[in-house]
Amino acid sequence: MSECIFCNIINKKIPASFVYEDEELIAFKDINPIDKVHILIVPKQHIESLLVCDITHKDILSKMLLLAPKLALENGLKGFRTMINSGKDGGQEVFHIHFHMYGGSLNLAKI
Ligand code: AMP
Ligand code: ZN
Repeated sequence: MSECIFCNIINKKIPASFVYEDEELIAFKDINPIDKVHILIVPKQHIESLLVCDITHKDILSKMLLLAPKLALENGLKGFRTMINSGKDGGQEVFHIHFHMYGGSLNLAKI
């Protein structure tokens, strides 16, 4: 997936501000943060979107989700919001699945 920007970040061909890495996951600061803390949680495996996931992805998806509170606490947050844009109509711009974890402004819109 040489044309995928997140694969290139995972392969360290494009720089990013990393906050976490293990065998399966990587997390780095969003280049265009929408809050004081805004981190992207990304699997090293290239999966296009939540739209293509099924039960075989349950382990990686749960690992991604469970990394969110760990990184939130490590980055000084007491609470956070997660967001997963899925598909073009869902606002997804980078087609390598990622969870947004953000917070800190105490100014989150009610949804
Ligand atoms: P989405 O709209 O859910 O696909 O979100 C893609 C996110 O990736 C946006 O919030 C971008 O600001 C972020 N992004 C794009 N390129 C980079 C990059 N090189 N480093 C860090 N974040 C990026
Ligand atoms: Zn990719």
